[in-house]
Amino acid sequence: DLPVVVIVGRPNVGKSTLFNRLVGKKLALVDDRPGVTRDRREGVGHLLGLQFRIVDTAGFEEDDPASLPGRMRAQTEAAVHMADVALFLIDARVGVTPVDAEIARWLRDSDTPIVVVANKAEGKVGAAGVSEAYSLGLGEPFGLSAEHGEGIVDLFDALRPHV
Ligand code: GDP
Ligand code: MG
Repeated sequence: DLPVVVIVGRPNVGKSTLFNRLVGKKLALVDDRPGVTRDRREGVGHLLGLQFRIVDTAGFEEDDPASLPGRMRAQTEAAVHMADVALFLIDARVGVTPVDAEIARWLRDSDTPIVVVANKAEGKVGAAGVSEAYSLGLGEPFGLSAEHGEGIVDLFDALRPHV
């Protein structure tokens, strides 16, 4: 059985883009509209010699913590619970939002190791967002560009102990 890596985070942070990069096929639907990935998608991911099952979770309907549907919390927590490691994505260009902070609170008590990833950090434009991600209280974040393939070695280093 392959180890399981799950990707979580609010809509539009680049979860499906990262999933597609790791799986190497356009299996997950990528769209500019928030929350467009309706279903959980799974595939076999590869990264610099690592091999694992990868799960792309659906986003939330609305980017407002007051209206986060409870089932989305339940779905995220269930997906994280069955994983060997969770990649928690934020958007480095936007920084930490209230929804990111809310998700971090759900994840903080999890027994599953959580890796904070500040995506969309290509060309150092997201450096402030990467620093801000420390405030989530889930350990040291690193910058990634799922779209442009930057930060892949850092992603390898973060996953390696868990897969
Ligand atoms: P999801 O809702 O979290 O699954 O996010 P998507 O993967 O659908 O991506 C949302 C938007 O962000 C799309 O327009 C992507 O092209 C864009 N995106 C994803 N990754 C990156 C990245 O590394 N850099 C930049 N600049 N845009 C990205
Ligand atoms: Mg998606």
